[in-house]
Amino acid sequence: METILLKGKPVRDAVFAEIKDKVSRAPRKPGLAVVLVGEDPASAVYVRHKEKGCEEVGFHHVTHRLSAETSQGEILDLIANLNADQAIDGILVQLPLPDGIDQELVLTSVDPDKDVDGFHPENLGRLVAGNPRFVPCTPKGILRLLAHYGIAMAGKNVAVVGRSVIVGRPLSLLLSLKRADGNATVTMCHSGTRDLASVTSSADVVVAAIGVPQALGTAEIGKGAVVVDVGINRIDAPDRPKGTRLVGDVDAKALMGHAAALTPVPGGVGPMTIAMLLENTWEAMARKEGLDGNG
Ligand code: NDP
Repeated sequence: METILLKGKPVRDAVFAEIKDKVSRAPRKPGLAVVLVGEDPASAVYVRHKEKGCEEVGFHHVTHRLSAETSQGEILDLIANLNADQAIDGILVQLPLPDGIDQELVLTSVDPDKDVDGFHPENLGRLVAGNPRFVPCTPKGILRLLAHYGIAMAGKNVAVVGRSVIVGRPLSLLLSLKRADGNATVTMCHSGTRDLASVTSSADVVVAAIGVPQALGTAEIGKGAVVVDVGINRIDAPDRPKGTRLVGDVDAKALMGHAAALTPVPGGVGPMTIAMLLENTWEAMARKEGLDGNG
């Protein structure tokens, strides 16, 4: 069996081009503010990618880089200022926040109308109610990627492995909604799932979002299944110039010729996450300005 690679880059490029076109016709530039606290190297890389994305589509953007010693009160004050700033349509607090900062309190302090990450309880609640406003970027990107490659979810048995509020849980909810890109039968798995392989190996689609390098292979994934690999893990690779390389949560090499389709790491889900962040920021601006969404 030939395994089709579900590459994110072409889809990301199409989304970027569409946003860029809409921005060129908009009354003003959408504005994104990113708040980065501390020196986590992976977070710094993600934030740079987000800044580059904003520049590419012509957004106004500002990044607040705060030291790890910044107090919770200072972070909340900054977010209050960004909530009131008319030039800012979207606010993104880069996670994880340093120890000692109440992440939930910080996320809840973001104006729900500017919550382009979709992590505010109001937006998560709307998702549960089946009436989403801002959909978290990675789950939204996964649905867009599958739709682009013509992989319908309706009626499929989907195993989502991982229940984080960033990926697994919102994706499970979205897939279970009665709408064109959902209507699937979803099983959400986690570290407490008994005999994971017996659940995942019978699924039509397996989403791996656990943060464990190359954890799922042919024993966990049935022949002919579609595999969405969300994981981004850096492992040692002495043969590479940097001495490391990125791998996902599935054993991609073992799954070639076994799975029907697979998202590569890097270059699969990752590019979609940034594209959906920009799309959510565009939507925040369009809603505020009363545009019809097309600019
Ligand atoms: P979290 O660590 O927040 O959650 C991991 C989830 O996986 C938890 O629910 C955990 O269970 C479950 N889990 C861990 N180990 C196992 C196991 N062996 N078997 C079954 N379930 C397991 O991770 P995130 O959701 O934030 O991220 C997951 C991965 O996706 C990471 O590699 C991350 O880097 C990547 N990621 C990629 C993005 C992209 O744009 N491509 C965006 C966001 C994340 P329990 O709840 O019981 O602890």
